[in-house]
Parts: sequence; structure tokens; C-alpha cells
Amino acid sequence: MKLFNSLTRTVEEVVPREQGKVGMYTCGPTVYSTATIGNFRTYTLSDILSRSLRYLGYDVTHVMNLTDVGHLTGDNEGDSSQGEDRLEKAAKKEGRSAWDVSEGYAQEFFVHMTKLGIMRPEVVCKATDHIPEQIAMVSDLEKNDLTYKIGDGIYFDVLAYEKTGKKYGELSTLDQIKFGARLEPNPEKKDPRDFALWKFSPKSGAKRDMEWGSPWGVGFPGWHIECSAMSTKYLGDQFDIHVGGEDLRSTHHPNEIAQAEGATGVHPFVKTWVHGAFLLVDGGRMGKSLGNAYTVNEIESRGYEPLALRYFYLTGHYRKQLNFTWEALGAAATALAKLRKTYQNLKSDQTERTTLSSEKMEQIEKYQAEFRAAIENDLAMPKALATVWGMVKSNIPNFDKVELLLEWDRVLGLGVDK
Ligand code: AMP
Ligand code: ZN
Repeated sequence: MKLFNSLTRTVEEVVPREQGKVGMYTCGPTVYSTATIGNFRTYTLSDILSRSLRYLGYDVTHVMNLTDVGHLTGDNEGDSSQGEDRLEKAAKKEGRSAWDVSEGYAQEFFVHMTKLGIMRPEVVCKATDHIPEQIAMVSDLEKNDLTYKIGDGIYFDVLAYEKTGKKYGELSTLDQIKFGARLEPNPEKKDPRDFALWKFSPKSGAKRDMEWGSPWGVGFPGWHIECSAMSTKYLGDQFDIHVGGEDLRSTHHPNEIAQAEGATGVHPFVKTWVHGAFLLVDGGRMGKSLGNAYTVNEIESRGYEPLALRYFYLTGHYRKQLNFTWEALGAAATALAKLRKTYQNLKSDQTERTTLSSEKMEQIEKYQAEFRAAIENDLAMPKALATVWGMVKSNIPNFDKVELLLEWDRVLGLGVDK
């Protein structure tokens, strides 16, 4: 299978570390509110990738985290180490504890995931269940002289990291590096690129719901450390594929690499980095303040089945922005209904299997190869869908059409036989 690797900026063959096995990690949701249809575009991408790899015969271990501590609001303004903890902020707003907020939205996330045909990863891990692992990784970084302490926490020292001969920020696209873009940089930091590994709880004022003791004092982990600590715990110091939305490419992922490689010394931490382009709504940015951060709840309340949204996602290539409109969702719902109807008609109109002519055999093999080539070529899902429609309209026997539809649905996950 070929994928576009953001690290090398080329489409290249995925060569697993261990033959026949793939370890992959997806940066999961921050469970402080209902996941949006934008977030789910990215999770559908990792699902399609994991399903495709399984279809091609790989034994896949997919790990996804749930961020329930440490993801600060400053992340949107150019400094992920500043601002309020999204979970604590939501807790105050909703009048319940950060623990309850996390549990509630995590459960809702799983329900929406299932409705969208997203297979549950082998491991789903919460940041708050892995505090010792995160403390251990920060301790390793400390031992390797890659940390320093300032007023509000322990920070990763990017210049010290670079002095060891390692590169920082290889994934970033230059024009996207705008450190401290909208926030005043913390003057105590040695370099604007440095980021918090462990933040101290505020000395006065409101007490946090989530805090833990550590060798550095009571506090909570920085956002980035959870992914390095949990991915290496479940997949090893080096693994095959890492997936996330394109917004994570310039800071979160470079920080994950620096932490993991700084702690373990193993390079490269991940061989293939896959980034999904954003979902737009009505041609523009999707945002809570814009009132267009739709969720699966809205999709359903407007009378659409969530799998219609999945069909819609498949109509765009993952590296291109995709524009959501209710009309486009309606068109996807119509196409999905037509596909299911076609499947039912083909199924009820099957004749006994007879020996196939070599010409028909060749045709079936051609479709099989075409579908496989589409997914193997950097997950060309629009091409895979075109193959589906081409095949059902062809003159191969209905028996084979039904078989192929069911087989391909292992990748598409559309429930054609629903
Ligand atoms: P968050 O819950 O903010 O941590 O984001 C979870 C995931 O959703 C990350 O991989 C983001 O890159 C991704 N994401 C956020 N907004 C969008 C969007 N509009 N389209 C696609 N992916 C998104
Ligand atoms: Zn991550």
C-alpha cells in the first residue's frame, strides 16, 4: 500500500517493521464536547486506512487516545502551553466535574463512532489512565538533559534537543510555523518552540478537578506527552503509521516526535505520518462560534442516517479539503440508498452459479484489481466508489456482484446489506 508520508512529502510504499503486521496510532478526540463532523472526517480516514490494511491481509494493531486532560485553549492561538484546560473549562460551564465531562463525551463519542461504521481500535486509551507512563517519559527526558523548570511547569528544551544532532519540526510546513502567533510568548521560555511537559497546578485560586503528584510537584501533564507515552507503551519505541488532522502537523506531531525520540533515542519514532485535510462547511471554516460545528446528533435530527455522512466523506480524497453542505449530504444519502437497493435487487435476482466463461472471469478479476489498486494508491476512495458503480452496472453475473459488494464493504463500511 502506498501512502503520502508527510515526513518525506512523497507518496511511498508502506513497509511495515514486521512483515505482515502494522502498528498504527490515531490522535483521538479531546472529550470536552461532542465530536464534530470535522473531527469525524479524520477518524473515518483512520478507519478506512485500518480497514484497507486488514483487507490487504495485514494484522493491524490500531491505538487511539482520548485526551481528557492538559489540552489548553492556547493551542488555538499559537501556544499550546498557555490558557485554560478545555476539560476544566467545560466542567465549570456545565456545573459538573471534569471527570464526569470526560466520561459523558467519551461514551457519546463511541456511540457516534459506531453509527458512522468506525471500527473500535484495538486499544482506546485515556490520558488520565496513563499518568505514571507520562511522568516516566518526562523523567527520561530530564535524565537526558532535555528539560528545564520555569514558574508554571517543566518544559521541553528544543535547543538542547537540536544540540544532540536531532532535527525539530521536520513535519511542519514552513509557512505554518507561527509560534506565539496570537499569544504573547511566555518570557520565561528559552525558545518560543519549547512546550510544557508538566504544568503545575495554580498555587492559589480554584482547585483543579484533575491533578496528580509528581517528582516536580502537584500538577498535570502537558497535552503532547500523552501521545508519545501511550503510543510507545502500546506499539513500541518505533511503529509504522501515525494519523491525525492536518492542524496537528506543525506543533503537536513535531512535539510528539521530539519527546519520543528524546526519551528513547530511537529514530524514527514513526515511519509514516498521515494527515487528513479539513472538512469545510458551506465553503468556509467550521467553528462552534459560527454555529456550523455540526455533530452526528444534528445529522440525525435532520433525518439523515450517519452512514450517509460516511458515504459523503468517501466522495473526497483525504488530502483535499472537503466541503460539507446539506445538499451534498442529501446527494450522498440518495447514492447510499440506491446502492443498498441495487444490492437487494441483485440478491433477489440471483441464478444458480454456473461455470463462468473466461471472459467473465477476466472481467471480475479486473474489477477486483481495480478496487484494490484504488485503496493501495494512497486511499483513492472516490476511485474505489467509481469502481463499485462500474461493477454493479457491468454484465458480470449477479452472484459475483453480490459477492464483490460484500467483500468491498469490509473496506467501505457502508452497510450495503442493511
Ligand atoms: P480535537 O478534539 O480538537 O483534539 O481534534 C480531534 C481531531 O479532529 C484532530 O485530529 C484534528 O486534527 C481533527 N479535526 C479538527 N477539526 C477538523 C476538521 N474541520 N476537519 C477534519 N478534521 C478535524
Ligand atoms: Zn497526538
